[in-house]
Amino acid sequence: MAAKRRGAYNGQIIYEWLRQMVRKDKERLIARLSNAVIHTPSGCILYKHTGGQTSKGYRRVSVTSEYKVYAHHVFWTLANCRPIPDGMEIDHECNTPACVNPKHLRPLTPEANTDRRNYG
Ligand SMILES: [Zn+2]
Repeated sequence: MAAKRRGAYNGQIIYEWLRQMVRKDKERLIARLSNAVIHTPSGCILYKHTGGQTSKGYRRVSVTSEYKVYAHHVFWTLANCRPIPDGMEIDHECNTPACVNPKHLRPLTPEANTDRRNYG
């Protein structure tokens, strides 16, 4: 299975992590995530949890004590019930790195994502 592949893109890891979670743990996770967001008038849902953030402002969620993933990747995967496609990045259409609203997120190739960043 692709998920066992060493170095698999973390989209697959997030999907497997959610898929293997028992219902009670998943409900607890969703409750934890829901309590960690702020809804803004613009429609952005900002993740304010303390899992840390990168220099670009992306928020992180702890999967295990030593493994963290991007919060917007977790929200996208939960909303779409499938792994982030291989080799794709999740782009913020709203240009707000902390936003986790699945409606503002879309998979893009890294090339398209970079172009968009450079040329708006
Ligand atoms: Zn947004």
